[in-house]
Amino acid sequence: MSSVQPLADSPSQALRTVVHKFGGTSVADADRYRHVAQLLLARDEDIQVTVVSAMKGVTDALIELCRLAADDRSEWHERWHELRARHRGAAVALLGEASGPVIEWLDERFGKLQEILDALRVIGGLPELVLERVQGLGEVCSARLLGEYLRLQGEDCAVLDARDVLLVDHSDLGVVVDWEVSAQRLAEWRQRNPQHRVVATGFVARDRQGRFATLGRNGSDYSGAIFAALFNADELHIWTDVDGVLSADPRVVPEAVQLNALSYDEACELAYFGAKVVHPQTMSPAIKRGLPIIIRNTFNPDHPGTRITAQRDTVGPVKGLTLSPGLSVLNLEGTGLIGVPGTAERVFAALRNAHVSVVMISQGSSEHSICCVVKGADADRGEKALLDAFAHELDTHQIQRVQRSNDISVLAAVGDGMAGQPGVAARLFESLGRAQVNILAIAQGSSERNISVAIDSADATKALRAAHAGFWLSPQTFAIGVIGPGNVGATLLDQLRAAQPQLLEKANLDLRLCAVASSRKMLLDERGIGDDWRERHAAASAPLDLDAFTAHLVDLRLPHTLIVDCSASSEVADRYPQWLAAGIHVVTPNKQAGAGVLARYLAIREAGETSGARFRYEATVGAGLPVINTMRDLLDTGDEVTAIEGILSGTLAWLFNKYDGSLPFSQLVAQARSMGYTEPDPRDDLSGTDVARKLVILARETGRSLSLEDVQVESLVPESLRDAGVDDFMARLHEVDAGFDRRLRQAREQGKVLRYVASVDAQGKASVGLVELPEEHAFANLRLTDNIVQFSTRRYCDNPLIVQGPGAGPEVTAAGVFADVLRVAANQGAKL
Ligand code: ADP
Ligand code: ASP
Ligand code: MG
Repeated sequence: MSSVQPLADSPSQALRTVVHKFGGTSVADADRYRHVAQLLLARDEDIQVTVVSAMKGVTDALIELCRLAADDRSEWHERWHELRARHRGAAVALLGEASGPVIEWLDERFGKLQEILDALRVIGGLPELVLERVQGLGEVCSARLLGEYLRLQGEDCAVLDARDVLLVDHSDLGVVVDWEVSAQRLAEWRQRNPQHRVVATGFVARDRQGRFATLGRNGSDYSGAIFAALFNADELHIWTDVDGVLSADPRVVPEAVQLNALSYDEACELAYFGAKVVHPQTMSPAIKRGLPIIIRNTFNPDHPGTRITAQRDTVGPVKGLTLSPGLSVLNLEGTGLIGVPGTAERVFAALRNAHVSVVMISQGSSEHSICCVVKGADADRGEKALLDAFAHELDTHQIQRVQRSNDISVLAAVGDGMAGQPGVAARLFESLGRAQVNILAIAQGSSERNISVAIDSADATKALRAAHAGFWLSPQTFAIGVIGPGNVGATLLDQLRAAQPQLLEKANLDLRLCAVASSRKMLLDERGIGDDWRERHAAASAPLDLDAFTAHLVDLRLPHTLIVDCSASSEVADRYPQWLAAGIHVVTPNKQAGAGVLARYLAIREAGETSGARFRYEATVGAGLPVINTMRDLLDTGDEVTAIEGILSGTLAWLFNKYDGSLPFSQLVAQARSMGYTEPDPRDDLSGTDVARKLVILARETGRSLSLEDVQVESLVPESLRDAGVDDFMARLHEVDAGFDRRLRQAREQGKVLRYVASVDAQGKASVGLVELPEEHAFANLRLTDNIVQFSTRRYCDNPLIVQGPGAGPEVTAAGVFADVLRVAANQGAKL
């Protein structure tokens, strides 16, 4: 049990009358009642009215009991016993020896409940009136328990059963309070019960016929506001289990931020569109009286909470976002609607007569269709009502159809600051579009305080997170999966982890590493993998399964998903089209896709273009050097690339930079190998295939349909050595020395040097091989393993554009991959 200090709103400005409402989350068991009582006793108020909900889950349990009994399912007996035991248990735990009379009272209540349930079993149905009577029992018990406990602490405290004073009428828009009668009844009750502390039941009331009624699910908040009005309170405090109203439902968006203040209008919109933290009707009694409502946390009572008042603070366009699930769309469509006045009115009238309330409506300006979003449970009735109302137009084909889509959610963005500010809707649509969420209908109230969109419920979580990030309310979040934690992959993972805090803080970007897979096994984690990824991957036992890997990333429902393929595998590249089509971005230093079979390359391009997902592979050529991006910029700005030439292998660059005849060529190769400059089998470098692959990638990027077979490749490995084992190859490599020596001498005689160059010319002829270049040529003066690429374009014709620098090594290659990841993130709205 935690102790409670006197609170911030201190005695110096002691308030006369304050109404407190405690939700079911605050009164879950005896301990929580004690905590609530302490909290109340620590407050210094002249009149303190406390409105309580039923213990957590009790209302649901009561409704379930009624349903079970009505269906004649015998489990209800056991459930009834459990519920009674829970209340008795709480009474004993709270009141100890003094619990006798309360237990007796509880038994009497539960005895009556049992009679009703028996009757339901006989009737075989559940009349609304009976449900109304039963479902409020939890509040009646709860108020008594808290009241008795306060009395036990020596407080003179009155317990008010709201059904004794609160009179309501039912209407289409919910219950309506008869203020006059209720105030009069309360005044009479106060004469008999003048205590300065009152504990009242939430949720329940009585109708004009004297029958028990309730204020609708979650209605205790509304009870709090009603009593605040009736007691003419100075403030209403709604105590719950979060620090106030948050920018989104924290169960869906864990990054949601607490809002210090909201206007009544904003709170109404948020509540209406599903922010469960406060009931939508709560605000209306408060608005009339200018009564401040403070939403605060029972478990963190020092937190100031969210203050809801008439005051508007228009900083930032959007304060909060909500989701209302379980809806359906009814769409009336037909050319006969165009220009016909009164159609919307007929739609509304038909739905109203069928008692279907419309959550949202949207009509295209072409007037070709009218779309209504209704509660899923009302959809059958609504559909039938429209079919009936427009039967004639359907017969005569003036209206083509009434379409219905189920499992719809409405996502609403709310904020007073939207009014008159352009671009808010655009931002919302852009965020949803980038997260691959399809929008079925859009509505904006003329108050411009709310934009709502209807979406498929399967997309709802992702959509809410994407929109939340889109308005900078939480970081842009990417679920990242890395395949191939080898040299480059491991370096990338370390770079990603090291940059994480800075990206989060400065760029509001959360690159969340959620999966790491090697060719054998994978590590999946929904909360994100930290700096210990090496150990955790090493300890992982799940075998690699790319389907499971993909499903894991997608099921996280984060706004964006990105896979980094650092393998050299063609099977992984086979997955790219499917990933891109599903909206998953792909970043890779793997040359398989860019240089492999043309059909796959084209499928990758097409999938990306259709879905909008990005495919980036800068690090396939020149490692971290901006080769592909430079060329993209040229092409995107309307330039034409006529020729590309380059030294695209760090190994071959080094070999020919060094080769001056002082050492035989074979010895240089051995030296390069021992320094780790070559592949384990140096023939992978000397064959020229790798260089040819890079050339294919560059040529394709300019729009040419080139394949590896189209490149004329001069291999530096003679036929006779191609099939030998590596050691044998190294031992016999001296056989090539004489030939190289001869070529070097010939070049020198003309004042030239030897370089291994890749080129594609204006006619698309592509070749890779050893060429002689003048000593002053740019390619003749490279440092060590540098790569160089030279673009001749329409604009850069006299003097080509050159990109040069280190073109190999895990650090720079990983950085090239990382830069691609950041480019994708920037493209998806990260502030980079
Ligand atoms: P109580 O029992 O106190 O009435 P509720 O369960 O009815 O509590 O409402 C509080 C819950 O509402 C929170 O625990 C939170 O999960 C949920 N919730 C949904 N949307 C929001 C939001 N925008 N801000 C705060 N809480 C929200
Ligand atoms: N106990 C009621 C419900 O669960 C009312 C409330 O808690 O607000 O709906
Ligand atoms: Mg509630």
